[in-house]
Amino acid sequence: MSAPVVLEARGLVRDYHIGGSLFSGARTVHAVKGVSFSVEKGRTLAVVGESGCGKSTLARIITMIDAPTAGELLIEGNRVDIARHGLSKEMRRKVQIVFQNPYGSLNPRQKIGDVLAEPLLLNTALPAAERRDRAMQMLLKVGLKPEHFNRYPHMFSGGQRQRIAIARALMVNPSLLVLDEPVSALDLSVQAQILNLLADLQDEFALTYVFISHDLSVVRYIADDVMVMYFGEVVEYGPRDEVFANPQHDYTRTLFAATPRADVDSIRARLARKAAAAEPA
Ligand code: ADP
Ligand code: MG
Repeated sequence: MSAPVVLEARGLVRDYHIGGSLFSGARTVHAVKGVSFSVEKGRTLAVVGESGCGKSTLARIITMIDAPTAGELLIEGNRVDIARHGLSKEMRRKVQIVFQNPYGSLNPRQKIGDVLAEPLLLNTALPAAERRDRAMQMLLKVGLKPEHFNRYPHMFSGGQRQRIAIARALMVNPSLLVLDEPVSALDLSVQAQILNLLADLQDEFALTYVFISHDLSVVRYIADDVMVMYFGEVVEYGPRDEVFANPQHDYTRTLFAATPRADVDSIRARLARKAAAAEPA
């Protein structure tokens, strides 16, 4: 029995047309060149590749920030068509994104409690007291403390800010979370904490992740499936263990050879935890 498909991409293409100037002609950048994949509920697809290969462009398409030049995107089986139909709030709510550096998107004058409650103000008719309650619950859920509720963004560390960004993304109960290099700016020990938090939240809320990274040790830890991109194209796509054990393309082999061995114990522990969670009580 397979889980329902939350996200499906069929031949996604994104071209950027760059206007000419006095010194250079107009040209087209083919950022994403016909990318297809699907992600089942509760699973994590890791998108890997070096800088400039089109990962963030893909993230913007999946989160409906940007429209593809061609191809189809389906969220929970519904076709996304930004140009023709516009998008319902309900559709937008389903997909949330966490960026590498959440500080840029946090209003410096807004207390964290308000940062977390705001998505409820925009998306629901819940009264203020209920919004505050839910914000507080989510604050605790991501490992922060009640006293953090009334603090401002600059009073937090990088890891704590990423917890805030994750909490904010989860406030509207999305089915899909796109994480664009979410731990790349953090120290190794903090990276591990955030990855563990993401794994716990995924189990608790049956979340589906698209996890973008250039770091294979991180991918190896978090991914169920792996998709490797190279200059806008998919050169490798499959279950993590298969992709890691038997990379098909030269680019992937080079990429893997350049990466230190992953922490095999932590992967085993996570898999064991997942298996135990799947067992009926
Ligand atoms: P990655 O996230 O993997 O580093 P991006 O998706 O950011 O890659 O970029 C893919 C390619 O598209 C790059 O060549 C980049 O320069 C180009 N690109 C991205 N955004 C734009 C834009 N808004 N306008 C023009 N070119 C862009
Ligand atoms: Mg990027």
